[in-house]
Amino acid sequence: MSSTTAIRGARYWIRRLIQAVALFTIAEFSYYGIFRCPFAVPYVSCANCPVVQCPGKQLWLIVLLGILASGLLFGRAFCGYACPAGMLNELFSKVAVLRGKVRGKFAAVAGYGKYVAAAICAVLFFGMHNPRWAVPIRTGEFVNSTVLTFEHAFPLWLIRTSIVVGTLLLGLLIPYFFCRFLCPTGGVLEILGRFSPFKYRVADSCTDCGKCDRTCGLETRPERDNCTNCGECRSVCPVDAIHLGTAAKGRGPQSTA
Ligand code: SF4
Ligand code: SF4
Ligand code: SF4
Repeated sequence: MSSTTAIRGARYWIRRLIQAVALFTIAEFSYYGIFRCPFAVPYVSCANCPVVQCPGKQLWLIVLLGILASGLLFGRAFCGYACPAGMLNELFSKVAVLRGKVRGKFAAVAGYGKYVAAAICAVLFFGMHNPRWAVPIRTGEFVNSTVLTFEHAFPLWLIRTSIVVGTLLLGLLIPYFFCRFLCPTGGVLEILGRFSPFKYRVADSCTDCGKCDRTCGLETRPERDNCTNCGECRSVCPVDAIHLGTAAKGRGPQSTA
């Protein structure tokens, strides 16, 4: 085995290992945030939450600070390495029927959806003190308590949760639909990523062949909107123009992905 192949293999398994650790530590918290959290904006008001068995009561601050710090340093790396919903999207993207079909101008405009979602969350949290829309009345079994939450949920909670679940499922049609177009966390990390020093970059030697964005599950290229710094595209570049670093080795031709 050549050293390049070994490095590629190591990169792949390191990402999978980090994903496994993240699943083990925050998957349950992620589940509660979507299916049982009574707040309009989940994951950020855990200190005042009545859902006593949610692991977020212990984890939320460290997770929140960790996500922000990772965004400042590595852009959307949280999406590519640790987010359970991102892993679900990655799985769905393998079978998405409209793979390669939703890109260009439409994708660029739809991409603003995640910034709109982030702005709505900011208004709800800072302007409206994160309203509590439903109080789950049961703190028992995992599945039963989720069912009861749905049965007794306030209509606005049902609308919010249906939008999140529905757009996550849309990932079966359009790869990474939620991550590319609607996730508010993705929107915030995308903005932080503009200033983050460590990211995958494209060097001057790029020939604009497009192999990277055809390989990428998010249908993008390094340094462009939605790149999560996963590094998967690096191995397909025929001129080895993709590298991880703090400084660009110059820009390749800029075409719309
Ligand atoms: S965009 Fe949102 S759902 Fe997707 S991986 Fe990032 S944080 Fe998770
Ligand atoms: S462009 Fe490359 S590094 Fe960025 S998300 Fe796509 S495959 Fe990963
Ligand atoms: S970075 Fe590499 S794979 Fe992507 S367009 Fe340029 S030459 Fe092609």
